[in-house]
Amino acid sequence: MTEARKGLVISGGSRGIGAATAIAGAAAGYDVCFSFASDQDAADRVAAAIEAAGGRATAVKADMTDESGVAELFAAADAMFGAPSAVVVNAGISGRVGRLADATVADLRNVFDTNILGAFLVARAGVRAMSTERGGPGGAIVIVSSRAAALGGAGEWVHYAASKGATDTLAIGLAREVAHEGIRVNAVRPGLIDTEIHARAGLVDRLERVAPNIPMKRAGDPQEVAASILWLASDAASYVTGALLDVSGGR
Ligand code: NDP
Repeated sequence: MTEARKGLVISGGSRGIGAATAIAGAAAGYDVCFSFASDQDAADRVAAAIEAAGGRATAVKADMTDESGVAELFAAADAMFGAPSAVVVNAGISGRVGRLADATVADLRNVFDTNILGAFLVARAGVRAMSTERGGPGGAIVIVSSRAAALGGAGEWVHYAASKGATDTLAIGLAREVAHEGIRVNAVRPGLIDTEIHARAGLVDRLERVAPNIPMKRAGDPQEVAASILWLASDAASYVTGALLDVSGGR
């Protein structure tokens, strides 16, 4: 008898770490419902890769900083597979790079809206969908934070690092709040990962510049983060909650 596929919701699944998690998740037995912000072609490519890996895919164009966008994502997931087994809170931006003294209120709001408000909205929707106290099956939430939360981002993105400090606290606090509702909550803290987030922030040479300072002397691949996310989401991590897992090559 074949095992029933499980449902996976990912915010920001059209590229980078979210896309790698979606595709590896499909190979691991999940059907995947993911959101993206703007790039339909990238979302279509990831949906095709999910299907090639044996999963069903739904891509939802929806803004994760907006309550109604998050509701759209979870409504699509519900129509696709009912309550998810796992929710990955991934959508995030680095924002405009620079010293805090030069940051505008718009720069700060932009980063905080996506990385904090968006993360809280997606995590809240995950709890509402999976909580055993609300008739759900229980499940796992994995929040994609950053090693920057511990390092501070001096000179480049203190605001980004601070937003990720907030998501670490979200993971720790929510884990304790919902443990008795059958939901585990953990965070991964990637270090330097080879995705488009750096070029999008205008930091085209960032990977080459920072890699020599990393103990393992290289940037990580998105697939290496995806493996940790999927482990935390799986029953193999059944007694792990409230943990912050660095995936950073020792950084
Ligand atoms: P990418 O820029 O490669 O991908 C970001 C994804 O999030 C895209 O799918 C994008 O959609 C989506 N997205 C962004 N904002 C929104 C929004 N408001 N609503 C819906 N979707 C949105 O980033 P990464 O894969 O590098 O980053 C993923 C996560 O990992 C982020 O939280 C980031 O902070 C974190 N991280 C990354 C590190 C790295 O070195 N890469 C290091 C540490 C943490 P679209 O393409 O359509 O805009």
